[in-house]
Amino acid sequence: AAEKQKVWEADRDHFMHPWTDFSTFKETGSMVFTAADGVSIEDADGKRYLDGIGGLWCVNIGYGRKEIAEAVADQICAIPYFSTFGHHTTPPAAKLAAKLADLAPGDLNHVFYGCGGSVANDTAVRLIHFYFNQLGKPTKKQIISRIDGYHGSTYMAMSITGVQFDHIGFDIDEKLVHHISCPNPYRRNPDLSEEEFCRQKVDELEQKILEIGPDNVAAFFAEPIMGAGGVIVPPKGYHQATLEVCRKYDVLYVSDEVVTAFGRLGHMFASQDEFGIVPDIITCAKGLTSGYLPLGATIFSDRIYEVISKPQADGAIFTHGFTYSGHPVSCAAGLKNIEILEREGVCDHVKDVGAYFEQRIRELGELELVGDVRGRKFMMCLENVADKRTKALLDPKAKVGNRIADACQKRGLIVRPLAHMNILSPPLILTREHVDFIAETLRESILEVTETLRA
Ligand code: PLP
Repeated sequence: AAEKQKVWEADRDHFMHPWTDFSTFKETGSMVFTAADGVSIEDADGKRYLDGIGGLWCVNIGYGRKEIAEAVADQICAIPYFSTFGHHTTPPAAKLAAKLADLAPGDLNHVFYGCGGSVANDTAVRLIHFYFNQLGKPTKKQIISRIDGYHGSTYMAMSITGVQFDHIGFDIDEKLVHHISCPNPYRRNPDLSEEEFCRQKVDELEQKILEIGPDNVAAFFAEPIMGAGGVIVPPKGYHQATLEVCRKYDVLYVSDEVVTAFGRLGHMFASQDEFGIVPDIITCAKGLTSGYLPLGATIFSDRIYEVISKPQADGAIFTHGFTYSGHPVSCAAGLKNIEILEREGVCDHVKDVGAYFEQRIRELGELELVGDVRGRKFMMCLENVADKRTKALLDPKAKVGNRIADACQKRGLIVRPLAHMNILSPPLILTREHVDFIAETLRESILEVTETLRA
C-alpha cells in the first residue's frame, strides 16, 4: 500500500499524462498497472482486466511474448544503437524495411523510420514537399484531410488532424492544411442513398482541389477507417473514388494505416486488401511492434524515391531524420512481431474471430441507448444517443461514454470512452470466449447506465 501511495503521489505531482483533463486529475489516484499477459492486464492490487483497447489500438499480438523480449535483449547485447545516417545501417533496420516493402501494396518499396504515427505523418509531408519541389513544382504544398480524421499530435500532424477539439488554442496554417467533411454514413442526410452520399463526399474533395488550385495541392491524407474520430467506415467505393480524383490532379494519396495495419482488419495493410487502393504513401506505427517498443514508418513509392534519390541540380538532399530513425532495437521488435503475426496466422484468425466480434458487438445495436454500431472486425465503436429515432446527441455533461467505461471496468473490462461513444480495439488474439465476455459485459454495463440516466 505504501508503494502504491508513492506511485500515486509521484504520478499526480509530476507525470503529465497525454490527453488528460487535469482539472479532474488530482481528485483520485491513477490506476497503476503492473503486469500483463495474453489479452489481460493487472493492476497493483492484483485485479485483472480484459484489455478491450489493445493498449491503445496497438498490442496486436497480446502481452507477455518472451520471443520479443529475447529478440530485443539479443539486439541490445549485439549493438543497441548506432546512427543510420549516410552509409550506416544495422541488420534489423535493413531487414524490416525489406519486409515492409514486401508486405506493402504496389510499388511502395521504400521505408523511412521514426518513433510513432505522428512523426510518420510529418515525414510524409516533408517527403511530399521535397518531392514536388525537386520536380520543379514548389507551389504544390497544401494538404487536404477530413474533419474527424486523426493523424497525431506533433504540430503538423495535429494540423492535419480534423478533430476540432484538438485544435483549441492552436493555429492551423490555413495556407497549408484544409479540411473537408467527414464521410460518416450514420450522420448523412437520410434522403441520400449510400452511393449519392459517397458521390457528394468525393465531389467535395474535387471542389476543394479546384478551389485551392491543383498546382497548389500536394496531398490528401485519409485513414482507411477513421479511428479516434469515432471509427467511421466510409461509404462503399469512397477510397477508390477519392484516389481517382487525386490521380486526376496529381495529388498524392497518403493512407494513414497507423491503426489499420498489421492485422486489425485481417490484413497486413488494409488499403489494398480491404479497400482496393494502392496509395502513394502508407504511414504506420502501433501494431508494427505491437506496442512493445516505439516505432513508426513512412512507406513510399518508387515514383517518389526516384525523384528524391537522384542527384539534384541544386545539390539538395532530403535533409530529414531523427536520432532514432531505424533504431535497431525497435526494428528487432518489429521484425519479431511480424514473424509472430505471420507464423500464427493472426490475419486469418481476425477474419474468423474478428468477424464474430463484429457480429456480437453489432447485436448491442438493439439497446435503447445505442444509436449506431460501426466498424469492422477488431475495430468497433458504439455511438450512444439520447434518441435512437432522431439520433439526437446526449448531453456531453452526462459523460455517458465514461460512465459505460467505468461500469465495464468494475466488471473487469477496459473499453475506451470517447465523448458519448465507446471504442473497442482489443488484441487480435482474442478467443470466442473473450468475445462473449466483452459483448455480455458491455450489454450489462450499457443497461446499468441506461437505468441511471432514467433515474
Ligand atoms: N494516425 C492515426 C490514425 C492514429 O490513430 C494515431 C494515434 O492514435 C496517430 C496517427 C499518431 O500516432 P502516435 O500517437 O504514435 O504519434
